[in-house]
Amino acid sequence: MTQECEVAILGGAFSGAATALLLKRRRPETRILIIEKAMQFDRKVGESTTEVSSCFLTRILGLTNYLGHEQLLKQGLRLWFANRSDQPFDNCVEIGARYQARLPTFQVDRSKLDAHLLELAAKAGCEIWKPAKVMRCELHGVEGQSLGVQVDGAEREVRCRWVIDATGRASFLARKLGHFRQNTEHPINAVWARFTEVKDWDSYEWREKFPSYAAAARTGRSWATNHLMGEGWWCWIIPLKGGDYSAGLVYDSRIFSLPNGANLGERLHRHLCSHPVGREIFGEAKVVEHDTRAYSAMPYYAARVCGEGWAIAGDAASFIDPLYSPGLDLCAYTTSVVSDLLARSLGGEDTTERQRYYNEQFVITYRFWFETLYKDKYFYMGEADLMSAALLLDVGTYFIGLVRPIYANPEASFLSLPFEGVPGRIFAATMKFYNRRLSALAKNRIAHGATGAHNAGWRELYDGFVPDIRLHRLIRKGLLRWWKAELLNLRFLFAARPQLRPRAATSAAAAEA
Ligand SMILES: Cc1cc2nc3c(=O)[nH]c(=O)nc-3n(C[C@H](O)[C@H](O)[C@H](O)COP(=O)(O)OP(=O)(O)OC[C@H]3O[C@@H](n4cnc5c(N)ncnc54)[C@H](O)[C@@H]3O)c2cc1C
Repeated sequence: MTQECEVAILGGAFSGAATALLLKRRRPETRILIIEKAMQFDRKVGESTTEVSSCFLTRILGLTNYLGHEQLLKQGLRLWFANRSDQPFDNCVEIGARYQARLPTFQVDRSKLDAHLLELAAKAGCEIWKPAKVMRCELHGVEGQSLGVQVDGAEREVRCRWVIDATGRASFLARKLGHFRQNTEHPINAVWARFTEVKDWDSYEWREKFPSYAAAARTGRSWATNHLMGEGWWCWIIPLKGGDYSAGLVYDSRIFSLPNGANLGERLHRHLCSHPVGREIFGEAKVVEHDTRAYSAMPYYAARVCGEGWAIAGDAASFIDPLYSPGLDLCAYTTSVVSDLLARSLGGEDTTERQRYYNEQFVITYRFWFETLYKDKYFYMGEADLMSAALLLDVGTYFIGLVRPIYANPEASFLSLPFEGVPGRIFAATMKFYNRRLSALAKNRIAHGATGAHNAGWRELYDGFVPDIRLHRLIRKGLLRWWKAELLNLRFLFAARPQLRPRAATSAAAAEA
């Protein structure tokens, strides 16, 4: 059996369905086939959205009503730091917003969101094969592409003009074409699960137990993405509609190793409880059975993302790091660029220039996004003052560089990949510089056994980030905090030459405590 179509999309989750929807909107007559391996989507990661991905979901995909009724509104980021396992809960450092988030963002159950998007694609007229697995792909440029797809135990042939890879980490085309590159400079790993019986961060019991904590924030902490922070690692805590919580650990294996235990779920739970804030929240929590997962060697990218008759979108093109939740941001940009490329090509335009742009700018975007925000960040992840400086500067520049233009003109802005041109290079150079310095300051503290000195007794609750001139206050605060850390660093100038201590052992010991 041979099926003919104009566009075959491999993978029908967020990126596959979004690409199809955007293309159908531009060119309703396009014959699109979506091939999805899973019978049903499970609750995967990618649950916390940012201002950029939420703008894509609401203003571009038009999902405001759906998100409001079916998912949770997110209330910003909160970071929690401690310097010993038995530290009192209300002595731990808290950094986050005092009030409700200023722009809409969401906590999403991906099994529901992905299924909803695929349903919308079917309603828009796309043909869906599910469960169906792409096994083979031959690319012949302008002459057309052919696919071998396993459906109900038999192989079907598909012939199409364009193949779009949206297979996520499977990264089907990049691997097949030899463009897949592991990012070995960033050896991070993750373990995650969903939990029940997680304590409510905002309950009246807590108001009695921790009155200063309860009085400090006017927004609900429960619906934030709460982060527990440590040397070489961080944990996310994300509430999901219906009451379960998603919690996961991400760690840099140069600095931290996961403590032993009977199984992954138990090891993750023990680790969460090794942090005083985690212990309060997760002390009585239970891991949901069969819902624990782990990834190692997480970051990668495709050195080429399109050619005549093929293109890659979403996680099939790259993954960097889940801190700050940029995954769906990158999916929003790449699905927009790819659907635009397809609409132009199928409409008869010469797309050589757009293909060149996507191939060249994608690698620059990946490289700069990684180096400005994540390279060696895990060295200072557990230092409250350094991470607070980074958060203010990282989120401040994100609002200036991405959130402002996206809200001013969503359609056009999603077609320009981040860090474009001279302004992009200036932003990148500035951000790389402070990130390198913060990392160097942390390494110095680690070498001198002086970590965690700022991880007790303060709370910083700011009014919230907005995409306008008021950002300057938060950025100035971030700069002052960084410069203060530089001054404090001078005390090590005359100390004995530092010896790096073996940190993996230290982290594991802390988790045992
Ligand atoms: C630990 C971790 C935490 C994260 N947290 C966040 C977060 O908080 N916020 C955020 O924005 N992002 C987060 N992300 C990233 C986010 O999960 C991804 O960016 C997002 O899920 C990518 O969507 P996608 O549609 O591109 O790929 P996927 O969601 O992976 O979908 C790929 C689809 O392709 C299908 N497929 C694969 N191979 C084939 C084949 N051969 N034939 C047919 N179908 C196939 C699969 O079944 C799947 O449905 C996180 C990632 C990780 C690893």
